[in-house]
Amino acid sequence: MNFAELRLDPNEQAFRDSVEAFVREFVTEAVHERERRTGSGFDEGLHLALGARGWVVPDWPVERGGAGLDRLRVHVLENELVANRAPGILRATTRLTLPTIARFGDPELASGVLREAAAGTVRVCLGYTEPDAGSDLAGVRTRAVRDGDMWQIDGQKMFTTGAQHSQYCFMLTRTDSDLPRHKGLTVFLVPLDLPGIEIAPVETLGGERTNFVYLDGVSLPDRFRIGDVNAGWKVVNGALDAEHGIGQEQTPFNGGRALGFERYLAIALQGAESWAKTTTEDGRAPIQSATVRERLAAAAYGVELAAATPAPLNRTVSADRLVRHAADLVMLPGLEGLLTHGSEGAVADGDLEYFHRFAQGTAIYGGTTEVFRNIVAERFLGLPRSTPKR
Ligand SMILES: Cc1cc2nc3c(=O)[nH]c(=O)nc-3n(C[C@H](O)[C@H](O)[C@H](O)COP(=O)(O)OP(=O)(O)OC[C@H]3O[C@@H](n4cnc5c(N)ncnc54)[C@H](O)[C@@H]3O)c2cc1C
Repeated sequence: MNFAELRLDPNEQAFRDSVEAFVREFVTEAVHERERRTGSGFDEGLHLALGARGWVVPDWPVERGGAGLDRLRVHVLENELVANRAPGILRATTRLTLPTIARFGDPELASGVLREAAAGTVRVCLGYTEPDAGSDLAGVRTRAVRDGDMWQIDGQKMFTTGAQHSQYCFMLTRTDSDLPRHKGLTVFLVPLDLPGIEIAPVETLGGERTNFVYLDGVSLPDRFRIGDVNAGWKVVNGALDAEHGIGQEQTPFNGGRALGFERYLAIALQGAESWAKTTTEDGRAPIQSATVRERLAAAAYGVELAAATPAPLNRTVSADRLVRHAADLVMLPGLEGLLTHGSEGAVADGDLEYFHRFAQGTAIYGGTTEVFRNIVAERFLGLPRSTPKR
């Protein structure tokens, strides 16, 4: 049962039809094929087409490059894109940074970035993680040293997803090693075409491509600084809260969802259901087995439970459910469940195998589910800190 089914009036239905037509035109098999091959989570043609309609930032007013859509239409748009697997990582990362760039950035820089980001011509990736600073983000070591009106940046970022298709990296750097760790940090919007920057691919189990970004003597004017010197912790927390769905408006349509990984579980479930309903050689369909029905029902319950869980907890519940049920679903058909897309006999065109791998990353990026539980415990339940303050 789909508890989230929407009743649309004729105007809203016309909007949904226009989104479906857009998806048919731009989220093509060629887009899917490229995405399977590259894992980049980004398709430039699609992204620019979204930008041309104001749909990179659909809720922004038209005069700022958005489409002025109300919450229901935004929900319809986002759900159609996810349900049809439109690659969208850079749309997400870019949007996470824009309010912070607008608030703390140089006004001229910010207005250009916001305008072009809305059009789709500028994309922003997130440069937080380093080889020795992930969950413990205050430990970043990439150094930015001031020289008059310029800064020199040296160091290394890791898991910088989408850097190869981005114009800027929203980067956390260390500007003072003598201050307490979280007080010596500064954020820059680093143009990725500067001399001294090298981007190298990192392939993940889930098939997603991410990157190392190496910075060697990168020279950057001060106008690319976002926020005050050594105020980077505050700056970055605005973007991190947006990523975690903290402080996000709760709407009747999305439950304030930030990441909504249950939508991927719903796709995997569809594949498993269609496999289960297909009659096999002995004349029986797997769905006739109580065990199969129980697993499908548990996954369907997981989808609804996560969809009904508002942010910020949706991040953890939806990733947990996706990891757990994707593992259940891939085992249902036996070994054939493990066949990849394009292999003969692959179940659901390889979807069960794919979502089982894809699920693992959802418990890691944007902060792991373990760390996120700490955030909920400390910031929302008022429990004591899980780690000592340094
Ligand atoms: C596919 C992918 C894409 C990514 N994209 C980006 C990106 O675009 N930009 C970016 O900056 N980063 C990105 N990341 C990095 C991601 O945010 C980090 O991997 C994540 O924050 C964990 O950091 P870590 O890998 O250093 O693991 P660690 O921090 O070393 O954690 C190792 C393990 O210890 C656990 N742990 C650590 N601290 C605690 C604690 N206090 N309490 C309980 N458990 C704890 C963790 O949950 C984890 O299980 C991406 C990661 C992946 C896998």
